[in-house]
Order: sequence, then structure tokens, then C-alpha cells
Amino acid sequence: MYRSHSCGELRNSHIGTTVTLSGWVSKTRDKGFVVWIDLRDRYGITQLVLDEDRTSKELLEQARNLGREFVIQIKGEVIERASKNANIPTGDIEVLVSELNILNESKTPPFTIENETDGGEDLRMKYRYLDIRRNPVKNNLIFRSKVTMEVRKFLSGEGFIEVETPYLIKSTPEGARDFVVPSRMNEGQFYALPQSPQTFKQLLMVGGMDKYFQIVKCFRDEDLRADRQPEFTQIDCEMAFVEQEDILNVFENLTKYLLKEVNGVEIESFPRMTYDEAMSKYGNDKPDIRFGMEFGELNAVAQHKEFGVFNSAELVVGIAVPGAASYTRKELDALVNWVKRPQVGANGMVYVKCNEDGSFKSTVDKFYDQDDLAKWAEVTGAKPGDLICVLSGDANKTRTQLSALRMEMATRLGLRKPNEFAPLWVVDFPLLELDEETGHYHAMHHPFTSPKPGQLELLDTDPGAVRANAYDLVLNGNEIGGGSIRIHDKETQATMFKHLGFTPEEAKAQFGFLMDAFQYGAPPHGGLAFGLDRLVAILGGQETIRDFIAFPKNNSGRDVMIDAPAAIDNEQLKELNLKLDIQE
Ligand code: ASP
Repeated sequence: MYRSHSCGELRNSHIGTTVTLSGWVSKTRDKGFVVWIDLRDRYGITQLVLDEDRTSKELLEQARNLGREFVIQIKGEVIERASKNANIPTGDIEVLVSELNILNESKTPPFTIENETDGGEDLRMKYRYLDIRRNPVKNNLIFRSKVTMEVRKFLSGEGFIEVETPYLIKSTPEGARDFVVPSRMNEGQFYALPQSPQTFKQLLMVGGMDKYFQIVKCFRDEDLRADRQPEFTQIDCEMAFVEQEDILNVFENLTKYLLKEVNGVEIESFPRMTYDEAMSKYGNDKPDIRFGMEFGELNAVAQHKEFGVFNSAELVVGIAVPGAASYTRKELDALVNWVKRPQVGANGMVYVKCNEDGSFKSTVDKFYDQDDLAKWAEVTGAKPGDLICVLSGDANKTRTQLSALRMEMATRLGLRKPNEFAPLWVVDFPLLELDEETGHYHAMHHPFTSPKPGQLELLDTDPGAVRANAYDLVLNGNEIGGGSIRIHDKETQATMFKHLGFTPEEAKAQFGFLMDAFQYGAPPHGGLAFGLDRLVAILGGQETIRDFIAFPKNNSGRDVMIDAPAAIDNEQLKELNLKLDIQE
């Protein structure tokens, strides 16, 4: 038996008992006549003690020579500590060691295994197995496990069946590139790894499995933006014989359940907002509604004077930043420079200080009088002490820029509190999205999303205006889930592919199996998928998903620990019938 107790278990009540513990040597303190060792395992730390009075010379010597992260097993008696440590649950006791067995030695770890480590990101990733011994990472993984357990518990309770779908498939367009896998047995042919199980879950609906879920890996070969992973996990769900309302209800309940079970937070019901409303109020389809600073559109009250910048703009829009009227000139200049950074891209910014005495001071006083500025204050909801920040230009771009400023100011003002949760549904997304570069429309969600009833005809005349039964679940400014009611008849699906630029032959070659299936009694269906990594990070009060993934990839999509991706040898290439131009 390696252990009778864990290193996080022993309390006062165990005093006098003999125990066996196994774990890693976290720390050794050698005072000459006495040696203390902090022994660590997943459950905590227990202090071990050996001294000249009660321990044999050999044993004391052996203890002295233990290195950090050695794996040892000890036997000893639980005794009361002379100086107690209130910071750890086992802080009242220590174990007086009578036997010590080294199970394995360890090289000195490249960074300290402590909550605040001296190891940089790269080093921690290279030795991720050591990083996982640290509390912050370990606790995140345990937290993730709890969240997934609760998800399974809830969905099973609602009658959902967990079904696995294949990883070696044919491309499913979700807006990214596919990772491909060459087939040895089928020369010149490739599987694609699923960007999501979308088509399979729809086929499960045709198969009659009316409530499906799966906690599943998805693969997307995208240029990595900050905090994206090429492989990530979804809680993927689909239901048959449902309308949008049914789906929103089930998954609102799942989210409420998780917030309650995991965070102890009770939320009555989630507000709903249309896509159009989210864009005009927050400039963003995943608004963080934990704080105000809603957009005020100023065209009507700012385009009547001689200020050309505003008069020529499609949109003039502002926000009132609480308490920022006290910013110094230097701080304001820095803010203007911030919006002009290429990442934000504004040409400039007009601002108005709302003074405590009710007067206004702006950068455009030459053009606008106090009455004008009072109207701006009214539209943006500015109070004395606030700073109104105004951007102008192309409507879409300006909204995006002001949204970035709104989030930045909220962060600076500490309004994005990690332990406050503000979920909402964003509904009525556009079906199609115009790609500015190519001039083509593509599916905003995916090609299987159905247009709202009666809007199919609009596809010919005004494609950008067609709205879909598509919805996103947003939490604290992050999209944590998204889905739609699907097309379930062959004709509509064919029409959709046509509008997305597929010839009938291409559509048949790529998605014939789905359209065929629709001819065999496909029920009305819809679903959604949550991004599990992000959901877990947000519930855990953090923004980065990387530390909730045991073995994440870095920003270049590399696993630096196992050193992947890597070249393969010519033998293997040959076997796969891959004719690459390989230099010997
Ligand atoms: N397959 C979609 C996605 O990965 C989710 C859905 O429509 O259910 O975003």
C-alpha cells in the first residue's frame, strides 16, 4: 500500500495514528538538529518532521539529501505541531517520520513548483507536466472536470443521449480551413478533421435520436488569434421537433444550472437582444452588459453645424465614460492615440468633458455651443463628471472602434468584474454576411442554418437583409455558445448552397449525403454548441482558456513539449502516397 491518507487529509483528529503518505518533496528546511519536509500531492501539503532526538542518524541523513520533487513514501506518527500554520488545512499537525522510501529521484525542476512560479510561459509549456503540479493549473483542471460533470448530469437528466461522431470525415464548412489527414488505403485521398460534428448531429436527428449531445474535440486551421486553440472542445447539442424558443429554454436552463452549481450565482432569466439592437447599442454582437456606456447615435444632433468631419460621416456615435471628465490633458491625448492605434483604427476622437457645474468643454467648442453639447449628453446619458467620447465615419467600422473603446474603458475602470455574471441571448442574426474583399456572401453561422419563415424569397433581392433563426449565448462579453434552427428539406438546402456560390454538382459532391438524408423523413431540428474551454475559463473567473487545457498549443499552433507538428520521414510519406518535394 503506497498510502493510507492523502497529503491534504490529516487533521487534529488523526493525532496519535500511524500513517503512510506518498508524494513529492516540495520543500526541505534543514535546521541542523531538525529537518522539515513539505510533502505534496494533488490534495495538499503535509509537513513531515525528523529530528536528532526522535529519528535515527541514517534516516535524518537520508532526509537531508532529498532533492526537490523527489517522489517518496513515508511512514510515521501524526503529532501536534508546535507552531501551527493557519494557511493550510493540515496546518495543525505534522508527521514524525519513522520510515522513508525514495520511490523515484528528480532532476531539479526548471522552475519553482509554486503558485507564483519563476517560470516563463514557454518554459512552463515545455515542462507542462511540472506546471500541472502547481495549484493554479491543477485547480483549473479539477474545475474543468467539475463543469463537464455537471453538464453531463444536467443534459442526461433532460433526456439527452451522448453519441460519439467520427473524427475522420469529409470537410464541414464552419468558416475555417480543415486539418486534413492522408488516407494510406485510398491513394491520393484525404480525410478532414471535423470543424464541428454539425452534419453528423443533423443526421442523428434524421436517425431519430431527438436529443443529442457530445463533449467533443473540434479542429479549425485558422490563423491563430490571441487565445484561440487549433483544437478545442465543444458541448455540442441538437434536438428534433423543436422551435428556437425550445432550444433557448433548455440551454438557458443548463447555463443557469451551471452558474448555480459551480458559482453559486442565481440568475432569473436571460435578457434577449436582436443582433441589430446589439450592434447599434454596443457595436458588438457579443456585448458585455455588466456595465452601461451604451452607444448614443448623434447624427441628428451633430450634423447641423459647420463641422465637416461629422457632416460627411455615415455615423456619429458616442459613449459617456463615467467619471472620466477629470482626465488630464495628457491622459486625454493618450486616449486619442489609443483609438488611433492600427488595432482600433479610428482617425481621431472628439471628446466632451461634462463639468460638475453642468457646463461642457469639448474639442469642438468652435462648432458646437453649450446647448448642442447638452443634447449630446442627453443622447449618451452623460452625467456631470463624465467624459463623452465621440467617433465618426463608416457606420460598421465606427461601431467596432467605439466598441473597442467601450471595453477598454470598462477594463480601466474595473467594471469587468470576473465574479459578476451577465448572460444574454443575441437573436435574429443575419443569414448571410458580405465578404468585403470578394464581394460574395457567405453563411454567417453555417450553410445549414434556416432563414426565418417567409424570408427565403428575399435571398434573390436583398440577401443581406435575410434574418435567420440563429442565436448566440453571450456571457460577459464572450460568445459562449451559438446555434440555429436548421434547414431540413432538400430544396431549401439546395437553394442555400446556390446562393453561397456552389454549383449543383459541387453541392452534391460535398453535401449529397445530407440532402439525400433530408429525403427520408428529416424532422424539423435545431441545436447549438458551447465552447467548453471558454465557458470554463469564464466560470472560473479568468479570461485565458490556455490554463484550463491540460496540454495547450502555443500561439503558433505548436505543442512545444512534444514538439509537434514535426516532419515525417520519407518511408512514412511513401506509405501515404504523398509525393512531396523532400530534400534528402
Ligand atoms: N456547429 C456550430 C458551431 O460549431 C454550432 C451549431 O450550429 O450547433 O458553431
